[in-house]
Amino acid sequence: MPGFQVEFYAFTNVNSTIRLREGVMHVRVSDLLEGAPESIIKAIAHILLAKIYRKPIQPLHATRYRRYVSSHDMTARAHLVRQVRGRKRIESARGLVYDLDDIFEELNRQFFHGLLARPQMTWSRAHARNSLAHYDPAHNAIVVSRVFDHGRVPRHAIEYIVYHEMLHLKYPVKLRGSRRCVHGPEFQAEEKLFPQLEQAKAFLRTL
Ligand SMILES: [Zn+2]
Repeated sequence: MPGFQVEFYAFTNVNSTIRLREGVMHVRVSDLLEGAPESIIKAIAHILLAKIYRKPIQPLHATRYRRYVSSHDMTARAHLVRQVRGRKRIESARGLVYDLDDIFEELNRQFFHGLLARPQMTWSRAHARNSLAHYDPAHNAIVVSRVFDHGRVPRHAIEYIVYHEMLHLKYPVKLRGSRRCVHGPEFQAEEKLFPQLEQAKAFLRTL
């Protein structure tokens, strides 16, 4: 039995590799699978070992792994990470109208006792309307659509968007079985504390 060295690794897609070198088995599992249920990690271990020892892969493990990876969540994440990692991007929190770092710090003081560590704050490259903003745990980044870096966007609207993503930071995605619970009850209750919630939501509906 060789020694094992196993790590999560930032591949550009959902990938895992195994290599035997000088008596040590080097295993790299895509960091997109960090937090995957144990059954999935076991399936990956089985597949990798079967590969390196040239043994048949049990269909149960193959199916389990394939289902998990092709589930919507994983493909979306992989796509996002590929976009981010695949190209060199210019990251900047400072827009033409709004500075995302300032907004983060202001909200951090107001609602979180200044306790949240600021992730990379960045405007998206495209004027994406379908994704207003998202928190990207793979890069610890909050990405906000450039649509909001505009004078006609009231400050409370951009603040609400950033506040929502900060709640994602505060309440990391929990796994319930293999289902992701994204906006749990605590999250929703805390979101209601934003004073101009209704005005902000009303503005977002006009986009
Ligand atoms: Zn959300």
